[in-house]
Amino acid sequence: MPTHNIVSLSGGKDSVATGLVAEALEVPNLQGVFADTGHEHELTYEYIHYLETVFSFPIRRVKADFTEQIARKRRYVEVTWRKQDVPESIVLAALDVLHPTGIPFLDLCIWKGRFPSTKSRFCTEELKRNPIIEQVFIPLMTPGNMVISWQGVRADESIDRRFLPECDEVGGGLFNYRPILKWDVAAVFEAHRYAGIKPNPLYLQGAGRVGCMPCVNCGKDELREIGARWPKEVARVREWERLVSLASKRGSSTFFTATNDPTVHKRDDVDFKTHGIDRMIEWANTTRGGREFDMLKMLDRADAPNKCASAYGLCETYQKIPVSLIDDAVA
Ligand code: SF4
Repeated sequence: MPTHNIVSLSGGKDSVATGLVAEALEVPNLQGVFADTGHEHELTYEYIHYLETVFSFPIRRVKADFTEQIARKRRYVEVTWRKQDVPESIVLAALDVLHPTGIPFLDLCIWKGRFPSTKSRFCTEELKRNPIIEQVFIPLMTPGNMVISWQGVRADESIDRRFLPECDEVGGGLFNYRPILKWDVAAVFEAHRYAGIKPNPLYLQGAGRVGCMPCVNCGKDELREIGARWPKEVARVREWERLVSLASKRGSSTFFTATNDPTVHKRDDVDFKTHGIDRMIEWANTTRGGREFDMLKMLDRADAPNKCASAYGLCETYQKIPVSLIDDAVA
């Protein structure tokens, strides 16, 4: 039976290790697929280019397109919001911003009039899962074909993943395969080292995981690193908060849920100007309770752009691979 092997590559360590396994096994019709959310760090885009030069298989890029949904939302705002007596200034502001930008993450949020959150994580499905299924898997799922989706997930990442099977059938000739399910983090980086492939440089700069920058699941420590190291990414989110707020019936939407900040009370007047990304980074620099600043961490962070801060101790690991690769990785 003709078989197609597709590795989902995010630019993170686990997806790369999965690609290395598939490549080593010399499986037929192997290709990588990268779902571009438009919200990745520029180093991840560079890293995907690098992977194209070191992997023996092609990497296809896919993007979600929300043009139709945004056009439908325009009609809804014009008719239904007006019927609902939404103030005309809010209707006009929304109509002004309801145009596709071609940036999937931003267009998704403009369409929804809000950002995804840890409780409503529609981003993974809309930006990653659906484009890969619709643009890559479905065209290959013709009668008599088998499609194997290689997924870089590990059991020790979360409770949900702990109980995943190594292999399962989705239907229609599509199967999931998770070859590194039982691997630990050390094995993942060892696979990079063994193959002479450098990891995504973000791991050497304090990132615990690679994905959207930032991810809605980003923790306090990671957010502090992002605030100190990557002002460009923070500025992008700040501008997106302004645009998505215009598309929102409330007139405001913040990237992170403002109530994550323990100093926010129910009665407080909260909007994207008072509790947007800048306030959350300020909060990330505080100690428990969110009121006192952790001066030691702040002094440390002031020097952050110059430091190597791998959450996985890669600085030591990567002393074992050629110096040129280390230089590139930490550059
Ligand atoms: S990386 Fe985070 S923000 Fe991006 S799609 Fe996944 S869950 Fe959503």
